[in-house]
Amino acid sequence: MAQREYDIVIVGGGPAGLAAALYAARGRHRTLLLEKGVIGGQISLTELVENYPGVPSVNGFDLAQTMHKQAESYGLETEYLEVTALERENQRWRLRTQTDDFIAKAVIITSGADYNKLGVPGEERLTGRGVSYCAICDAAFFKDQEVAVVGGGDSALDEGLFATRFTSEVTVIHRRDQLRAGPILQERAFANPKMHFTWDTVVTEILGQEQVTGVRLHNRVSGEESVLPVAAVFVFIGQHPNTGFLRGLVTTDNGGHILVNDWMATELPGLFAAGDVRQNSARQVATSVGDGVTAAIAADHYISENFPD
Ligand code: NAP
Repeated sequence: MAQREYDIVIVGGGPAGLAAALYAARGRHRTLLLEKGVIGGQISLTELVENYPGVPSVNGFDLAQTMHKQAESYGLETEYLEVTALERENQRWRLRTQTDDFIAKAVIITSGADYNKLGVPGEERLTGRGVSYCAICDAAFFKDQEVAVVGGGDSALDEGLFATRFTSEVTVIHRRDQLRAGPILQERAFANPKMHFTWDTVVTEILGQEQVTGVRLHNRVSGEESVLPVAAVFVFIGQHPNTGFLRGLVTTDNGGHILVNDWMATELPGLFAAGDVRQNSARQVATSVGDGVTAAIAADHYISENFPD
């Protein structure tokens, strides 16, 4: 098994990881980015990013590619591998993957978060057959058909509005009678004639054999049971952080988010966390970028203090 040594290894290539990578590599540290999937993370699935200051409107995938190329131009190396374990060893960190091991003076965890599932019958079986966690990716498959969106946050409205470009009708199914989403998205959603709202309601089953044909609903106030015929269900009920590989190494909150100080430092030496994986993240591209930059600067200070040439 090969083993390579770096100053800074960054785990996860979303905005936080890419920003940390730029600062670390440009700071002349030998820097490696480990990404298990696609560069960009969640923003690679976002059609339009409109709230990243200085960039009025940009495709999320393109923004991530630009950030990656910028970091690579300063010497960043990238490997498409999943980290399976992290261990402290001789004042350094060992990162294990399926193939190679990597040794780092400092590690920045920017592994982001994954979508929550409803956990109802039919969801797993029909995933990719009408059940989706990304309307921006999949709504175009349901041209002129009726679809449902589950959730009342920004993601539900943002992606639901996107789905109206293709579909005939989008029903937002929300468990309360008030949305969590911000006012601008709410205004747009209420003004869109294709958007409909089913309040105080949860999905209890996703129906269909080969493809989704509908959802079984339960109204939490009236107790009424009903079936809504739809060709697709887009689920946006929040996310959970990707910290499984840490196996309890660092302290997290109840939701699994890593606890850090103002410098994105965990309680362990040379271990930093930034972006959606940390506690109290505002979960925006701009804030994740800020987190990543802070973590990279803190990692630079840590290396200067602990590994003098
Ligand atoms: P979120 O804000 O946590 O909202 C999750 C929604 O799902 C809530 O409405 C919640 O209901 C509902 N929910 C949770 N568990 C559920 C369950 N088991 N069954 C039914 N409904 C359930 O998550 P998000 O919308 O993915 O947003 C995440 C972050 O990204 C937020 O900070 C958001 O501002 C940000 N974001 C921003 C934009 C933008 O355009 N600015 C776009 C997307 C995301 P309750 O309301 O009852 O808790």
